[in-house]
Amino acid sequence: MTSLFEYAPAPESRSIVDIRPSYGLFVDGEFVDGTGTPLKTVNPATEEVLSEVATGSEEDVDRAVRAARRAFVKTWGPMRPADRGKYLFRIARLLQERAREFAVLETLDNGKPIRESRDVDVPLAAAHFFYHAGWADKLEHAGLGPAPCPLGVAGQVIPWNFPLLMLAWKVAPALATGNTVVLKPAETTPLTALLFAEICQQADLPPGVVNIVTGAGETGRAVISHPDVDKVAFTGSTEVGRSIARAVAGTEKRLTLELGGKAANIVFDDAPIDQAVEGIVRGIFFNQGHVCCAGSRLLVQESVHDEVVASLQRRIGTLRVGDPMDKNTDLGAINSAEQLARIRELTAFGETEGATCWQPDGDLPDRGFWFKPTVFTDVSPAHRIARDEVFGPVLSVMTFRTPDEAVAKANNTTYGLSAGIWSEKGSRILKVTDQLRAGVVWANTFNEFDPTSPFGGYKQSGYGREGGRQGLAAYLRSDS
Ligand code: NAD
Ligand code: MG
Repeated sequence: MTSLFEYAPAPESRSIVDIRPSYGLFVDGEFVDGTGTPLKTVNPATEEVLSEVATGSEEDVDRAVRAARRAFVKTWGPMRPADRGKYLFRIARLLQERAREFAVLETLDNGKPIRESRDVDVPLAAAHFFYHAGWADKLEHAGLGPAPCPLGVAGQVIPWNFPLLMLAWKVAPALATGNTVVLKPAETTPLTALLFAEICQQADLPPGVVNIVTGAGETGRAVISHPDVDKVAFTGSTEVGRSIARAVAGTEKRLTLELGGKAANIVFDDAPIDQAVEGIVRGIFFNQGHVCCAGSRLLVQESVHDEVVASLQRRIGTLRVGDPMDKNTDLGAINSAEQLARIRELTAFGETEGATCWQPDGDLPDRGFWFKPTVFTDVSPAHRIARDEVFGPVLSVMTFRTPDEAVAKANNTTYGLSAGIWSEKGSRILKVTDQLRAGVVWANTFNEFDPTSPFGGYKQSGYGREGGRQGLAAYLRSDS
């Protein structure tokens, strides 16, 4: 990429991680063989096969659920809450101690820049365990009744965009509230979940409290439809979320869904433009845009449109796309060939439907899966790139004239996970925020995460909240 600055390469060493040639499932505290056909996980930046990972069949899932049930009945359920908290603190500290190992492994398996796995994914995962460890013996003060009870066995299925962090969002609240877990990581990014299994062993977590069953969609389906699972938690696409809601309907299972998004990032004419441009970049190019709450629809007040777009393009010209292990890299690899094909398909629609596509100059690496940061202008709300979630580094820019028009356009989506507002006026921020149908609204920032703050969607972005006091409710019942 053309860049204002030339940097010498600064690659992180991968020697800290010891990737085994193959991995089994983690069931009842041990690694065991899976009976399904194993799958390979690759490094998307090089297409190198990193390891072969077991696939859990229905029988394997059944074994994992039975182990989780035993642990719920015999060890974890009856344990003093303060002791559960000690295990969670121990896990949090082990994640910190082995942070560099987790960061390198995450970047190798996922393709995200090491700067992000090191500074965002891993510290936030540890923070989730610390935060929930604190709740373990204070649940009666969470406003959920005087003696809230755990639900039992949680079946959890997560996506590939934040593999360790999504695990933490699922496992930490489940354990803090006294539940046990069967978790299925995404098929393209199973390795940090398997390293987490080692952390569970290192922490002496009683067997069966956390079980990790790898595999693809079929394994996920077996987890969510197992009759002895009490609670289903899913993060992934709206399409799969819908099929899970159908599968769970009519059972006594409790369900939370964290699905897709198409967030509006709204820039008013009184916003500090340079700061807003940084926020726009962070909103859509963080994690290659593989972010459910990405600010993928930029709504700019008409009077500052040209200035914002020019400044944004200048800034994008300085972004470094390439080797995720290089500490200077801003955008890494697209996670899989399938995701790259989907991004290409949706951006092709953008051009045929009449929007104007802009990408910076420069070459992409020859091997691996790559997509340049992309900006579409002349976008109309009816265009597919304004409606469909691309889940890649692709921004659609639209304009508005009045705050009411901004709100109407922002809410003109089937999703409602997040939104951003850029303005110097506090009263405007509060008024507009109130009118936006989005679970999280950021003001003069974007993509900020904190375990104390609930996260979740409206409409087709799903239901239920994760994080904060509200997130505990998904794993507790207050009726007994
Ligand atoms: P996906 O829905 O295909 O896969 C997510 C997970 O579900 C994977 O582990 C997959 O193996 C599993 N799965 C697939 N079919 C299943 C089935 N029938 N039953 C049970 N499990 C099944 O999603 P993806 O394409 O891998 O991930 C991208 C999508 O996830 C995007 O749409 C994005 O918005 C969404 N996402 C949402 C959030 C959020 O917090 N709301 C976070 C990350 C990703
Ligand atoms: Mg991989």
